[in-house]
Amino acid sequence: MKIMPNLFPGGVKRALTMSYDDGQEYDVRLTKIFDRYGIKGTFCLNSATVGREGFVSAEKIPEIYKNHEVAAHGVNHSYMNLISSIVLAQEIMEDKRKLERLSGQLIRGMSYPYGRYTKEVWQNAKMCGMEYSRTVNSTRDFYVPENFMEWHPTCHHDDDNLWKLWEKFLEPDFDRPMLFYVWGHSFEFERNHNWDRIEKFCGLAGGNTQIWYATNIQIKEYILAQHNLVYSADMNLIYNPSAVDVWVSRGEEAIEIPAGGYWEEK
Ligand SMILES: [Zn+2]
Repeated sequence: MKIMPNLFPGGVKRALTMSYDDGQEYDVRLTKIFDRYGIKGTFCLNSATVGREGFVSAEKIPEIYKNHEVAAHGVNHSYMNLISSIVLAQEIMEDKRKLERLSGQLIRGMSYPYGRYTKEVWQNAKMCGMEYSRTVNSTRDFYVPENFMEWHPTCHHDDDNLWKLWEKFLEPDFDRPMLFYVWGHSFEFERNHNWDRIEKFCGLAGGNTQIWYATNIQIKEYILAQHNLVYSADMNLIYNPSAVDVWVSRGEEAIEIPAGGYWEEK
């Protein structure tokens, strides 16, 4: 029977992740909304603006983001496509170092300020320890990225198609992992007076046992582990050399291959 690597943890077919940039104080309100609905997000911060008026304060970072991922966004929110490679490396490395000290988390991913990047930028970012980086190019689709250094989201939260896309996302099955990825800035809800929009979206999308709610790095780590499964030619033996449990489908059946373990057809 055909084995498809199209399931997320728990054997579910869908995952949702959120990504919010710039670390303004409205992240406090947004993380509380996510927490109420069990939704996970990644928050990309500029370490130079931490503690400035209107931005999150250094001491509060571990508490604000305790259920979420902190990621890099460059120390100074520079155009990464315009600066020299040595300055770029410092922008990313220093952001990683400072945010790790402030958050107590490992900083493993980022998003591009203004969404601007080139191949040289992502290659440089990778050398500075970044495992993924988000763009601002909406796919209005549900693919997991082929290159995590060019991770295109499904849509911005203000996208006119948001509700239609969510409906489409829940339509019956595809032979691939289905990922819904929303991005934005928390200050936009304040500026546009539409906090009700994200409340409504989280109410609709959250609390569903058939959806995996994950941070960006959890998705990246899981998809990588799924790619790294080792199959026998007969597909009756599968080895998972990674440190995370991986799920695949076999017809209607969901198969779990434990971290470091095997699945064998009986
Ligand atoms: Zn930004």
